Amino acid sequence: MIPELLGAAQSVQSLFSLLKAANGLANYNEIVAAVSEVNTKLLQANAVALAAQEKQSSLSAKVHELEKECARLKDWGAEKEKYERRQVAPGVFAQLEKNFVGEMESAHKLCCNCFDKAIPSTLQQNQVVDPKIGRMPKLVCPNGCPPIVFRHYL
Ligand SMILES: [Zn+2]
Repeated sequence: MIPELLGAAQSVQSLFSLLKAANGLANYNEIVAAVSEVNTKLLQANAVALAAQEKQSSLSAKVHELEKECARLKDWGAEKEKYERRQVAPGVFAQLEKNFVGEMESAHKLCCNCFDKAIPSTLQQNQVVDPKIGRMPKLVCPNGCPPIVFRHYL
């Protein structure tokens, strides 16, 4: 943007010099050419200024978005301290509130994969019926993580 503005300023100075020297309309063609040049450079400078303004607006939006994400992660830092990774079934882990006591089946369980990505995602319990084994618990993460099927809770 700076070169275009400098060019426009120089053209304006040239125009003033010409006008001082003109003393009437003796250099009319040079004046018209100088005015035209100034106009062209001002248009270029304006276009560059608009582009810079758009870029700044875009960067401001990005900064705002990052500030929100930063605040969310700070909040998550405090929230995640309330949970711990626990084995709820043989080889099956979930995030439970620290010091949870009670049946694993009824515990509020968060998905470990999502938890590691700073996303608290409650696992929903479902059932699968296996023809040989019978009913088996199935934990489903609403964020699309692979479902976890197992024989029984601990
Ligand atoms: Zn998940």
